Amino acid sequence: DALTGLVNRRGLDRMLHAEIAAARRESRPLTLMLCDLDHFKHFNDTYGHVQGDECLKQVGRLLREVCVRPRDIAARYGGEEFALILPNTPRSGSMTFARALGQMLKFLKIRPPGSGEDIPLTLSGGITTCIPDEHTSAESMLMRADEALYAAKTQGRNRFFSFEMQMDTIEQRQI
Ligand code: GH3
Ligand code: MG
Ligand code: MG
Repeated sequence: DALTGLVNRRGLDRMLHAEIAAARRESRPLTLMLCDLDHFKHFNDTYGHVQGDECLKQVGRLLREVCVRPRDIAARYGGEEFALILPNTPRSGSMTFARALGQMLKFLKIRPPGSGEDIPLTLSGGITTCIPDEHTSAESMLMRADEALYAAKTQGRNRFFSFEMQMDTIEQRQI
């Protein structure tokens, strides 16, 4: 992606296909995370598009930093949305990852010229984790992550949501 230097949308689709195939072969969990900056239109309207772009670059850098495993992939999904592919990462691991990401974002120093202080930036994330089978496709995983992202937004933003995690909790309650 030209602005952030991350993998672009096309690369994301290609790599997601490949990782689904690999995870299916190895029967390993695969996590897909869609992240969307909260109220980013307001940031642009307040500080201008150039500062908005600068901010996206900083978030891109942060995402590259959190993807420490060699096969983790950070991509720009479009606009102010990012996608992370985390191979061999189970539900619990994906939540730990998401918490760490949220914490690191807090320490990102975003201070547009003309602003006396750092601007707090938050994001919301939709997570889906599965051991892929013959029904799993890149499209179906993206759709499920997007639905989870929508849930995170409607629940108040600045949080991550996973339907699978929700199921885990319900199962635990029933034990
Ligand atoms: P929400 O919390 O619901 O995600 O609100 P939002 O304002 O982030 O979402 P919305 O979809 O209404 O607006 C997204 C905004 O992101 C629109 C535009 O101002 C900004 N944006 C998208 N792509 C770019 C880009 O490449 N550069 C800059 N500077 N801004 C962008
Ligand atoms: Mg958006
Ligand atoms: Mg947004």
